[in-house]
Amino acid sequence: MRSIDIHAHLEPQCFQKAMREGKTWHGITADDEEADLDPMEEWTPDERIRDMDSLGVDVQVVSTSSGFYQYHQEAATTLALARDCNNEVHQMTLDHPDRFKGFATLPMQDPSLAIEELDRAVNRLGLVGAMIDDHVNGKTYDEPEFLPFWKAAEQMGALIFIHQGAPTVVESRIDRYHLPNTIGNPANRAITFASFVFGGVMDTCPDLKICLAHGGGYTCFGIGRMDRGWQVRSEARININQPPSTYLRRFYYDCLTHSEAALRYLIDTVGVDRVVFGTDWPADMRIDWSASWVLGLESLSQDEKEAILWKNLEGLLGI
Ligand SMILES: [Zn+2]
Repeated sequence: MRSIDIHAHLEPQCFQKAMREGKTWHGITADDEEADLDPMEEWTPDERIRDMDSLGVDVQVVSTSSGFYQYHQEAATTLALARDCNNEVHQMTLDHPDRFKGFATLPMQDPSLAIEELDRAVNRLGLVGAMIDDHVNGKTYDEPEFLPFWKAAEQMGALIFIHQGAPTVVESRIDRYHLPNTIGNPANRAITFASFVFGGVMDTCPDLKICLAHGGGYTCFGIGRMDRGWQVRSEARININQPPSTYLRRFYYDCLTHSEAALRYLIDTVGVDRVVFGTDWPADMRIDWSASWVLGLESLSQDEKEAILWKNLEGLLGI
């Protein structure tokens, strides 16, 4: 059976080369946290393909790792970095068109530059969209300054994959036990869903395509409370006339729940046509034997497994 993985990261080879030569690369040096990544992220495309074959993954939609968001830098620096990353991802898709599709990384701190680079990535390089953080230097996506970006992404038909960078909302409270990842990632994602919905972005951009990583985090489990808030509090209704739960099916979600019961609940809540295969390769928090994991889930029908593993993404990305 075919499988297409929407959630697979890389560390650009051009960055690695600069680090090996002791150079600074768009403001990043070997001493920075970004330079300390999983050795598997450094694998060449051929090494990746060998591992994909062993996992039963046919296509990876590759994304430059979140350490390269670099939204805190000067926008021109982040743009130059993004162009290098996106060109490298583009080359992978040219060299291995049947195995790799690509997400861009963007200078989101300057929405007009982000639009420019998304346009280049999608319309000239053939990438399928972009991976971005849950926020930009603390600003959430209901802020009006981002609206032109959503309109542009909608018009281009780009898929925007939302994936946290560090720090999440958790570090300021507790920075132990790996909780910034295990709790912070899903918490961030629920905030992002709420920002898009309560902020009115999904109404303003009815055709915008957003995929929430990590199964949308706590979104589904928390939706009843969001609906209750919308019913009883006027400030929750400033931008939307329908309860938040009516927007659940406006988003896509990867299947990365690490729990069959949670994935079943996600499918039952949003519909199986909104759930896609995403593994977080090669992070230690990935699904280990990803395609086999989905295929082995007893509570999913064969049709549901096929929808998640490839059919939904085949249709969504036109591949
Ligand atoms: Zn990831």
